[in-house]
Amino acid sequence: MEHTNLAELNVGVLALQGDFAEHKAALLKLGVEAREVRLPEQIDGLDGLIIPGGESTTLSRLMSIYHLREPVERMALEGHCIWGTCAGMIMMAQEITEGDPVPLRLMDIGVQRNSYGRQVDSFEQDLDINAVDPSSGATRFNGVFIRAPGIIRAGHGVDVLAALPGGQPVAVRQGNLLALSFHPELTSDLRFHDYFLGLAAARPAVLELDIKEGTQVSE
Ligand code: GLN
Repeated sequence: MEHTNLAELNVGVLALQGDFAEHKAALLKLGVEAREVRLPEQIDGLDGLIIPGGESTTLSRLMSIYHLREPVERMALEGHCIWGTCAGMIMMAQEITEGDPVPLRLMDIGVQRNSYGRQVDSFEQDLDINAVDPSSGATRFNGVFIRAPGIIRAGHGVDVLAALPGGQPVAVRQGNLLALSFHPELTSDLRFHDYFLGLAAARPAVLELDIKEGTQVSE
């Protein structure tokens, strides 16, 4: 399905827990009224879905209780864009190093929870996001990290969109799937939300392009 107008996109924000309202508000600023998703049938017809930050153990339990795992997995397999931020990124991972959450295993990444310390160690970091917005030049993105998970493994086929100065990836993409360690919805910078909408609108051509070009990062 091709959408010429972003406002016609059907986009959902998983609204079980966490800061889904902030994601909704960011999308609204881009002219997209997102659907709050709490039940499996609310996934039907979506072009894209955001899994927000919050607390991944709770998120994981609620996704099981509300029978949302299977429809979200199906969405991913069908090539629709799914974007996890922070606790949402933990849910996207293939494997996680600690704790109870059961991830969806959609992306070929390994994630460590609370990788940068506890609440007191939350921090901000200006990030180069040229891969997301090539026209931005030197305009960096203010990454807000709150008890953030760290990407400790990125498999072949996973593109790094942004990294910390030391080189650790903090924004990754695998075809139609996106994951960020930080919280773009807590800033007024809409470039990641715009990028997500672009992926949601472009599929499945995006996927085919990726496979042909074979852009990869090494582990
Ligand atoms: N530390 C949280 C967890 O493990 C994630 C924090 C967040 O989403 N800001 O679930």
